Amino acid sequence: MRISKVTPLVLGTPWRNLTFLKVETDEGLTGVGEARVLNRTDGVLGYLSEAIPRYMLGSDPFQIERLVQRMFREDYGRAGEIIMTATALVEVACWDIVGKALEQPVYRLLGGEVRDRIKAYANGWYTVERTPGEFHEAAKTVLEKGYRALKFDPFGAGFYELERAEKLRVIELVEAVRDAVGPDVEIMIEMHGRFNPVTAIELTRELARFRPSWVEEPVPPENIAALRKASDAIAPLGVPVATGERMHTMYEYRELFEMQAADIIQPDITHFGGILNTKKLAAWAESYYVLIAPHNVGGPVSTAAALHLAACTTNFKIQEHFNDFADAFVLEAAPGLPKVVDGYFSLPQGPGLGVTLDEDVIAANPRQKVHLNLFAEDWHKRGGEKGTT
Ligand SMILES: [Mg+2]
Repeated sequence: MRISKVTPLVLGTPWRNLTFLKVETDEGLTGVGEARVLNRTDGVLGYLSEAIPRYMLGSDPFQIERLVQRMFREDYGRAGEIIMTATALVEVACWDIVGKALEQPVYRLLGGEVRDRIKAYANGWYTVERTPGEFHEAAKTVLEKGYRALKFDPFGAGFYELERAEKLRVIELVEAVRDAVGPDVEIMIEMHGRFNPVTAIELTRELARFRPSWVEEPVPPENIAALRKASDAIAPLGVPVATGERMHTMYEYRELFEMQAADIIQPDITHFGGILNTKKLAAWAESYYVLIAPHNVGGPVSTAAALHLAACTTNFKIQEHFNDFADAFVLEAAPGLPKVVDGYFSLPQGPGLGVTLDEDVIAANPRQKVHLNLFAEDWHKRGGEKGTT
């Protein structure tokens, strides 16, 4: 079997463009990959215009390791976000094809299931005014949709430090959410790499009494020593540190593991070269007793890939999911995903990824000119900065 045609497709929403990759074979099987490329869609599409004829067309979709290795090494230059995203797009599509060819769900080809259901947490639910009252009401809607865990960034446009008044506002916001969901629902605090270590430590100390399940990206992602400084002071507060969505290769994780700088890693399958690279990373993490909670801001195909990995990965913790809140219509672009019930996805159904691309939905929602800037006021409303590219 050979890959005979590869077609990128982009679905637009007010704050994110989702890039799909439709991969067809000479035996009539079709697979699909998808990634939420943040603000750099043209970068990925541009690289794909070179990589499709160079690497994908004519490849055997069963030779996933070979294809990923060729895309990683044979251009010579170092691979980062753009390359590892394009690689993931075709890698996930190949798993979809292989699963369909063998009439098995993908997780059955990667060791088989180790759990019967997959814990989920909600994100994208707080597109409201940044007040305790509105966050309180929004958090209640998360529970009404069947979730038992939720994540949010209460820090506004903060960077490196926060003014004293902003710190007090943050505490009120987190208190309002904890009050809304009760003591036994998990809340995760997203810091988006905003802070210098001492500020991240101070904020976590203030918020620890609300029992967050983790603080995420307490410092920017480039400096593992700074992360280690933050983690060493946060650990005695009883709060785990999570990070990793902006790390794109195995090699970038080496220092993090060696320094034991995080308790939970959050690779994004769709920016990390795909399912198998992430599965390898999870195995490496397990030797440090580190858990994996894959980042996922994507639509239904991205989520399906994450669920298949979760089903067969022993140190999986919990799966991020946006699509019950921010622009839920994106689920229609590839129906077939299980829904979250009582806090959990059921296992995805195969064969392959178990979702079916609906190109009409993508055609009806064309790419939008949008720039999501997480350091702008009111970014959390996820309206984007319209008209920018
Ligand atoms: Mg994050």
